[in-house]
Amino acid sequence: MKVGIPREVKNHEYRVAITPAGVNEFTRSGHQVFVESGAGVGSSITDEEFAAAGATILATADEVWEAAELVLKVKEPIAEEYHRMREGQVLFTYLHLAASKECTDALIDRKVTGIAYETVELPDRSLPLLAPMSEVAGRLAPQVGAFYMMRTGGGRGVLPGGVSGVYAAKTVVIGAGVSGMNAAAIALGLQSEVLLLDKNVARLRQADAIYRGHLQTVASNAYEVERAVLDADLVIGAVLVPGAKAPTLISNELVSRMKPGSVLVDIAIDQGGCFEDSRPTTHADPVYKVHESIFYCVANMPGAVPNTSTYALTNVTLPYALELANQGWREALRNDPALALGLNTHDGRVTYGPVAEAHGMDV
Ligand code: NAD
Repeated sequence: MKVGIPREVKNHEYRVAITPAGVNEFTRSGHQVFVESGAGVGSSITDEEFAAAGATILATADEVWEAAELVLKVKEPIAEEYHRMREGQVLFTYLHLAASKECTDALIDRKVTGIAYETVELPDRSLPLLAPMSEVAGRLAPQVGAFYMMRTGGGRGVLPGGVSGVYAAKTVVIGAGVSGMNAAAIALGLQSEVLLLDKNVARLRQADAIYRGHLQTVASNAYEVERAVLDADLVIGAVLVPGAKAPTLISNELVSRMKPGSVLVDIAIDQGGCFEDSRPTTHADPVYKVHESIFYCVANMPGAVPNTSTYALTNVTLPYALELANQGWREALRNDPALALGLNTHDGRVTYGPVAEAHGMDV
């Protein structure tokens, strides 16, 4: 099969949908891979590396889309890309169609077979192609928190781990899921004192089994969140209620009683945020003040580390992309129920219930 990887064109998107190792896997299986020149530059991967792995480098996006039967991307196509999509082409990427009628209409009009990363779902209801970005955001959170806790970052002027004879900073992580567990791991690595809260005690039990007393776990409720937050130097919000807006766990009034210079990182901002005053920010202007505290609410945290994010994403997308190329999309979806749930559009129709519902369309 002919597989195409165009350069991402969405504003500030530096990831790319394949790595040299991925190109190698495809070519070993007898497929041809076409990569747009410069597609990997944002992730610090050169054309030469792709070519050495067996890719054909094409100068323009038009040529890549023209050549490809299967197009691999990171983000949903944007307006300038719509005209390149053609009937019968298979597109495997993050689509988030429920959030965009315009993109949904484009895929329908062009009769593209759209398979969305974010709706590929395993039998245990986990979302394997979203998890690596939660890992990245979780690991990044204590790092950005550490930066803004410095006086030069506007914070209290504390080191996460203190030094010998001096108290470590207190990090509170709310949510012990994928991002929260990764945040806790790095916060501990920085030698801060870590308190991990979750409503689900089974999650806390797992954390406790791993860390054996190196962090504190506490069942999350309004009373314990308040106690934890008032004592915190850094608070990381990492909760998720699937399919719903994030619950508001920290009020404006509670922030007014926090330590001056404390830092709050809201990873859940893409679901509306879990602090009352959270609003989405960008890497160009990531923080703002609420009372005497600093809020960091960047909605695409993995965008700051595109090299790591590209490798993390393609590690999990590649096996599915290979299934699509090796078996053809129909057979691949028939043989893999998790991948089948990724099908969002086909032959001019929406095929995924929640997307159809969001736009008042028939499935
Ligand atoms: P997850 O499902 O793995 O974990 C969420 C955890 O929150 C679960 O353990 C759940 O029990 C817990 N929870 C739910 N309600 C709670 C409450 N009221 N109090 C305490 N705990 C509660 O989710 P995840 O993969 O870690 O994702 C977390 C959020 O981060 C999601 O909104 C996700 O979209 C977002 N995210 C953001 C970025 C970014 O760049 N900002 C990147 C990746 C993911």
